[in-house]
Amino acid sequence: MIRDRETLDLLLQNIARFVRERLVPQEDSVAETDEIPDELVDEMKRMGLFGLSIPEEYGGLALTMEEEALAVLELCRTSPAFRSIIGTTVGIGSQGIVFDGTEEQKRRYLPGMATGEIIASFALTEPESGSDAASLRTTALRDGEHYVVNGTKRYITNAPHAGVFTLMARTNPADKSASGISAFIVDAKSPGISFGRRDKKMGQRGAHTCDVIFENCRVPAENLIGGKEGVGFKTAMKVLDKGRIHIAAVCVGVAERMLADALRYAMERKQFGQRIGDFQLVQALLADSKAEIYAARSMMIDAARRRDEGLPHTTEASCAKMFASEMCGRVADRAVQVFGGAGYMSEYGIERFYRDVRLFRIYEGTTQIQQILIARNMMRDAA
Ligand SMILES: Cc1cc2nc3c(=O)[nH]c(=O)nc-3n(C[C@H](O)[C@H](O)[C@H](O)COP(=O)(O)OP(=O)(O)OC[C@H]3O[C@@H](n4cnc5c(N)ncnc54)[C@H](O)[C@@H]3O)c2cc1C
Repeated sequence: MIRDRETLDLLLQNIARFVRERLVPQEDSVAETDEIPDELVDEMKRMGLFGLSIPEEYGGLALTMEEEALAVLELCRTSPAFRSIIGTTVGIGSQGIVFDGTEEQKRRYLPGMATGEIIASFALTEPESGSDAASLRTTALRDGEHYVVNGTKRYITNAPHAGVFTLMARTNPADKSASGISAFIVDAKSPGISFGRRDKKMGQRGAHTCDVIFENCRVPAENLIGGKEGVGFKTAMKVLDKGRIHIAAVCVGVAERMLADALRYAMERKQFGQRIGDFQLVQALLADSKAEIYAARSMMIDAARRRDEGLPHTTEASCAKMFASEMCGRVADRAVQVFGGAGYMSEYGIERFYRDVRLFRIYEGTTQIQQILIARNMMRDAA
């Protein structure tokens, strides 16, 4: 749902200019140094990008899902690592509080997230619990006015920069099911938290992940999200449901960028005395990519609108995430092919995108997990 086309267009134009003039020129140096310069993060803060999804009363832009998806798509016509720095605060890190937090929790944390002062991370995955997230082992045991947290969280995006974590932990160790899990807001500076080394990743340099280790970390009981035990897994699943539409938009944005680069190259590069874009086999690479991006974009917009209209959208969100992330991988592969040998060389940047986008098929639910969710929902609906 788009509330005011003119206001949204202004925001999208601003983001497009920022991407073109500030981010694209720094893609190589960010990949080289593995750091996003502070001044770029400050510009993102001033543009309100950290607060895209936070309600207006807490200082955010309160975009609808469709508006957020279009904004994120625009931001992703560059290295996806730039989106990652705002991604967890806009998405999985803050939305648990937005959906299920108490009024006091919202007032305390959301305004700082909206300005980017507090970077929020989402801590669900553990060494022994990834796709099977409900089997998580981290415990949070009540001790007077606190919970004592013990456990290790793995691959946590933005953990080295986080101000707070939305943490999923088991408050009832006797209950091994999802209903033994609760969600907490944990201050990253709490005693008892330590961080592993930054992970060395395949791509998205400039975006950082690491382990977060909790050893007798005391979290005030008032930081239990919604003040209710046993509903943390539901909160996490709601957050990921929305996140899937967001990731689909990310995939479409990066794919559009890769195709634009491939098209430009196909129109410039000459072999056999003509542009390689005039060869029908190269045209097939471009056309298949165009059609698949269009399909993913249409799915993503439809899922976002269904969410905005309050219609069931879990299956559609999974379909959009699965299709868009797989599509993005195929477009990256074709783009490298259009570039030929240059596609394999780092100076042309397309091999960097090829590595960067591999992640989309893995996090926020792998393709296999989306397949399971989609089929499960189909059978439930048919029964
Ligand atoms: C760069 C990066 C950033 C991340 N950021 C975060 C973050 O911020 N917060 C967070 O909590 N997590 C984060 N993750 C974790 C991510 O969500 C998990 O890696 C992902 O869910 C997969 O879990 P896993 O790695 O344990 O793989 P596994 O669950 O071990 O899966 C391995 C393979 O088995 C398949 N598989 C598993 N179960 C089934 C099944 N039932 N049927 C068929 N196939 C199956 C999977 O699809 C996959 O192909 C991040 C991961 C990465 C790589």
